[in-house]
Amino acid sequence: MQQLFKRIKLLTNGKYKIPYCSCLFIEDEINCLIDSSPPDEEMIHLENRPIDMIINSHGHTDHCSRNYCFPSAQVLLHPFEHQRVVSGETYLHDYGFNHFPDNPLKDIYLDAVKFHSRAADGELTDGQVISTGNVEIQVMHLPGHTSGHCGFIFPREGFIFTADIHPDLKPFYAMIDSDIDEFIISIEKIRQLNPDILVAGHGSIVIKDKISQRLAAYRDELFLREEKILKLIKAGKHTVEEMAGEAITFEGKFPAPREIFFLHECVMDWKHLQRLERLGKVVAEDNHYYLR
Ligand SMILES: [Zn+2]
Repeated sequence: MQQLFKRIKLLTNGKYKIPYCSCLFIEDEINCLIDSSPPDEEMIHLENRPIDMIINSHGHTDHCSRNYCFPSAQVLLHPFEHQRVVSGETYLHDYGFNHFPDNPLKDIYLDAVKFHSRAADGELTDGQVISTGNVEIQVMHLPGHTSGHCGFIFPREGFIFTADIHPDLKPFYAMIDSDIDEFIISIEKIRQLNPDILVAGHGSIVIKDKISQRLAAYRDELFLREEKILKLIKAGKHTVEEMAGEAITFEGKFPAPREIFFLHECVMDWKHLQRLERLGKVVAEDNHYYLR
């Protein structure tokens, strides 16, 4: 735990353990959690503290898996994320299990990522301002990672919480509703904001130096991957699965369990192919992709 500001604690997920993230705990007239999945050892800081409100950046379990532990809290989430926090079937669908079927780990996936159904009570919208009494939170819709992914600006303290836009790790967009163009625009929106402090959900959590350059490098990883996809097509790989075998978003080697990361790779490569089609660089025919 780190006391970030007078009323704001950072519950940290030191190493990138899944399904956990670094969360903010605002102790104020309204006690509020921004994301609800700190690792077990950080839960001690929430003991005997009634949580009135939970604001989730998005519906991935590593950001909202403990919502169900706070039945009396008001849970706010972008409407694009509402269905997947309620329905396990939707959650699996959104991760591409139906598009790339017969995954041997499908049946154990929801338990492994600690999926617990808990409906949201209200919506977040871009520009919305939420007050906990002394702390003001401005919602910034930052889609791309998922369609309803949001960040939160704290104008009084002068920082932004960017959840799964974490400049010291690599971009992840393995959802059916992920979108690389939106991801690029969202990164640019944060750069335009030019924050003094960026707090991310994973990786180097509190970033104060060279934020703009680090975000630019994070964005450029998307373009590097796109070049790799084009090279794979040139080298004779024409289906998503053939390309995914090369693990370009995992630097050539899948983490364990391979079946899950292969699925993530399939969806992310597919997202690149969709963008390359939009750019007129690639054409698709019967699920095979060719250079134009
Ligand atoms: Zn996420």
